[in-house]
Amino acid sequence: MGHSLSPAIHGAAFRSLGLDWVYLRFDVEPEALGAAVAGLRALGAMGANVTMPHKETVLEHLDDLSGDARSVGAVNTIQRVGDRLIGHNTDIDGFSRMVVEDVGLDVAGTRCLVLGAGGAARAAVRALERLGAGGVTVAARRVEQAERVAAVADGTNANTLGWDEAERKLGAFDVVVNATPLGMKGELAIASEGLGPSHVVLDLIYDPPTTPLVAAARAAGARAWSGLGMLVHQAAASFRIWTGSEPPVEAMSAAALHAVGRRDPRTESR
Ligand code: NAP
Repeated sequence: MGHSLSPAIHGAAFRSLGLDWVYLRFDVEPEALGAAVAGLRALGAMGANVTMPHKETVLEHLDDLSGDARSVGAVNTIQRVGDRLIGHNTDIDGFSRMVVEDVGLDVAGTRCLVLGAGGAARAAVRALERLGAGGVTVAARRVEQAERVAAVADGTNANTLGWDEAERKLGAFDVVVNATPLGMKGELAIASEGLGPSHVVLDLIYDPPTTPLVAAARAAGARAWSGLGMLVHQAAASFRIWTGSEPPVEAMSAAALHAVGRRDPRTESR
């Protein structure tokens, strides 16, 4: 959570709409998650975001789930309605909007590879299925975890690959999504030799804004984006849930770019 840009993004949105709201960041240890969530009720907070590693374990502390949260078994947004806490998943909407609105990519019929099998992977798999991907393959170091995530795409042709096999078979895919944290500390998520001009690479990491995978993909002639667009769109969807107002996406996007730029002015955003 130390890398969160969300306070800057939501702070800009509140200011833009003249709302007297504040977005605060707390580091919560796994054993304190239940108490932290109950605290939202006690404090009368309007809601919260939940990030790794709590997106799945938080479900047991909530009163109800939206359809999207239930379908992927992961929550990134909590809404307080009276005494009840409702879990939502805006990562699905965030990923979809990044693909459609920012990248301008029509994934219909494409062969997609999703690296990782956590909450972000579940959201990406669900979104790709909804957008009509021709096939979704999940690669993870734990195959049973990959199988559980592939099952999220029940409406499309979904399967799994071992990590090493995925590296060898990159050429068999049109779209590669990195939904692991690999790249946040400068490591290359996957050996990039198999990438070429026909690939679209979507790295869900947004900090640093240009990961080694994005850089390697671009060097190989592929089109590649970081996850900053997804971050802004999932934040906009959370904002809509909490406030009932249309989010000022331009102001949120500008705040995200500014916050990332302040961290690493040498790199571009996406
Ligand atoms: P998560 O639930 O912790 O899942 C991470 C996944 O990556 C797990 O499958 C994990 O495998 C795998 N992984 C971790 N280290 C690995 C390694 N060395 N080799 C192979 N696989 C590895 O995390 P998450 O919430 O899905 O987030 C994943 C990434 O997406 C993070 O970088 C996060 O910042 C980013 N994200 C971005 C947005 C956005 O809006 N742009 C939204 C959500 C997440 P194991 O289970 O075996 O450890």
